[in-house]
Amino acid sequence: MKKRTLLVPGQIWTDGETQKNWCVLVEGERIAAVGSPRSLGDVSDCETIELPGCTLLPGLMDLHSHLFLHPYNETSWDDQVLKETEAYRTARAVAHAEATLMTGFTTLRDLGTEGAGYADVSLKRAIDDGIVKGPRLFVAGRAIVATGAYGPARRNYRTDCCFPQGALEASGVEEIVRAVRIEVAHGADWIKLYGDYRVGPNGETRATFSQEELNAAVAAAHDLGRPVAVHAMTEEAMQRAARAGVQTIEHGYGGSGETFALMRVNNVAFLPTLTVSEALSEYFRGYVRDESDATESMQMAERGFRNALAEDVTIGCGSDVGPFPHGQNVRELVWMTRLGMSPAQALTAATGINARIIAQDRELGSIKSGFFADLVAVAGDPSIEIAKLRQVRFVMKSGAIFRRDPPIG
Ligand SMILES: [Zn+2]
Repeated sequence: MKKRTLLVPGQIWTDGETQKNWCVLVEGERIAAVGSPRSLGDVSDCETIELPGCTLLPGLMDLHSHLFLHPYNETSWDDQVLKETEAYRTARAVAHAEATLMTGFTTLRDLGTEGAGYADVSLKRAIDDGIVKGPRLFVAGRAIVATGAYGPARRNYRTDCCFPQGALEASGVEEIVRAVRIEVAHGADWIKLYGDYRVGPNGETRATFSQEELNAAVAAAHDLGRPVAVHAMTEEAMQRAARAGVQTIEHGYGGSGETFALMRVNNVAFLPTLTVSEALSEYFRGYVRDESDATESMQMAERGFRNALAEDVTIGCGSDVGPFPHGQNVRELVWMTRLGMSPAQALTAATGINARIIAQDRELGSIKSGFFADLVAVAGDPSIEIAKLRQVRFVMKSGAIFRRDPPIG
């Protein structure tokens, strides 16, 4: 007999709707039934968990994380890649994963270890085995970048010694296809490509991989059943990626309406990463949260997001957490509502839409019978006030309870 748990929240929010007087019956790792207490049959054998005053939601998802990074105002990105060992970074990532789960994020798509090899594949395994606590992970291993188009930038260091790079370099169709296959061989669930980077003569962002290279990488990834995510800030790189048939474009700060329309037509989803733009502005532009005017890069991110909204592109929730502290993923939803989404839209992005983007929408992202019991309860109603997501009281993943705060009052 599987263990049965009955959750009795103040209300349930799922798939854009609020349900009062509904309970959730969890059996083993899945949701067995959802509905009015009477509809659930005999529940006398269940452990009952009351969550009065709370809204029960599907576990939240962040589709752009870096568990192997920590904030740049603690240690610069270069120093993390060059001076921190993989063991040290993995120890940190374990703590980061637990902090993330405890704040209600039960699924992450982690888009590159940034110089920590395939430690993400092992972390995922340790989480799945129940050795350490963390969200469900979809991992990318090493990102793939055009030769010389990433960091640490060689021009900033002595040239008579070699040093590690934050991603795997490739040039030409043959190399990029090989790179994709190497990533898959090591356990990548997703292929992460950098479509552009700060490689211009004055450090401006320019497209890196050619159309031909991107097409070949996507074909190789799809042959192996792996979807593709592309970092792209410029129109050129976004358009090349969309034409190549990738699944998601990350950042998209420079995207015009025309480019987002091309993404919509090609069925490419958008992850706006608004919070990282704020964080980098704090570290490098003297931006003070809730005080300063938006910096140039924040305004650019905002324009991109509003263009995407207007063009009705599929917009998921992806924050680029890592450069800002793990466990603060919810800041992305707050930003999405500041820039034009309703709280319910932002919640949908972080649950049902994210599940669809990662093709897990038959098991994740909704409170439905048969789905994984990934559930979070927060005090109050986040579909009215998104900041209520900060008041997490209860977290369940695969039917196991990871957080259970005492009832309020
Ligand atoms: Zn990123």
